[in-house]
Amino acid sequence: MAHVMTVRGPVPPDELGRVDAHEHLFLRTPQTPNDSFWDEQKITDEAKLVRDSGIRTIVDLTTVGLGRRPTALADVSAAADAHIVAATGYHRSAHYSPWHWARTADHELLVDVLLTDLTSGMDDRDWSGPRPVPSQVRAGIIKLGASYQHIAPEERRWFAAGAEASRRTGAPIAVHCEIGSATHEILDRLGNLGVEPDRIMLAHTDRNPDLELHKELAARGAYLVYDTIGRVKYGPDSRILDLICGMADAGLINRLCLGTDVGRRSMLRAYGGGPGMDVLGREFVPRVEKTLGREAVDAMLCHAPARLLTISEGVS
Ligand SMILES: [Zn+2]
Repeated sequence: MAHVMTVRGPVPPDELGRVDAHEHLFLRTPQTPNDSFWDEQKITDEAKLVRDSGIRTIVDLTTVGLGRRPTALADVSAAADAHIVAATGYHRSAHYSPWHWARTADHELLVDVLLTDLTSGMDDRDWSGPRPVPSQVRAGIIKLGASYQHIAPEERRWFAAGAEASRRTGAPIAVHCEIGSATHEILDRLGNLGVEPDRIMLAHTDRNPDLELHKELAARGAYLVYDTIGRVKYGPDSRILDLICGMADAGLINRLCLGTDVGRRSMLRAYGGGPGMDVLGREFVPRVEKTLGREAVDAMLCHAPARLLTISEGVS
């Protein structure tokens, strides 16, 4: 059966409801050493706020080696009554220490880790090595990352592994595009590795708010996720609303997903910060609905992410 793989098992795509397509429920990275978060109770509280804001599914894009807690994700999902889709994959190079195992692992091991996460269960406590503690919790999406304006050599190896895992399992791929750059290059590289644009979601595209570029990427079939919602240091939310209106005018709103990517402890309400992971449902969705109507909201929050996340019959 076609399904979406969540941390509590496969669900039919039409059961996802509204989807926040880019979050982190646990995260520790050398990029933001003082802003990590891995408290299960606090993130349960945060997820409940998201659920109360009308979002039913959260896509957690924390990759291998950045503090994923798969078993805890399943517990958070149950406690908050929210679906959670977890990620496997390798983030952009800057998120890993110089001695991280993934930098020197061969292609076979890189692929094997992804396939294990997608088809049998993700490693718990995955920061300590490639195969420390297996769980029963499966990943439902592959996350990759590219550096600013280019794909670094080690990232190219991780792209090759991610593409192979996607081809073999049917899992979709989300790609971190640093400041929304190198997007065509990312689609070209994954295309050469056998992954079609309609299995790919490009993250942070709104950091580079170039409507013409976004139309080109969507016309190639890729999904874009606007994921700086509520993070005003990158610009006002009105800028994202303008992009959405432009994409709707071009008939391409069905290629858009939304998220907040509040990947710092200081941005989570449960830790006493803001704007909170629920800023999407709480503040932004009502603005979209007022401007473009309910159908536009459903296109971006329900239909587009459901299509992207669906793993077809015949693959695992
Ligand atoms: Zn992120």
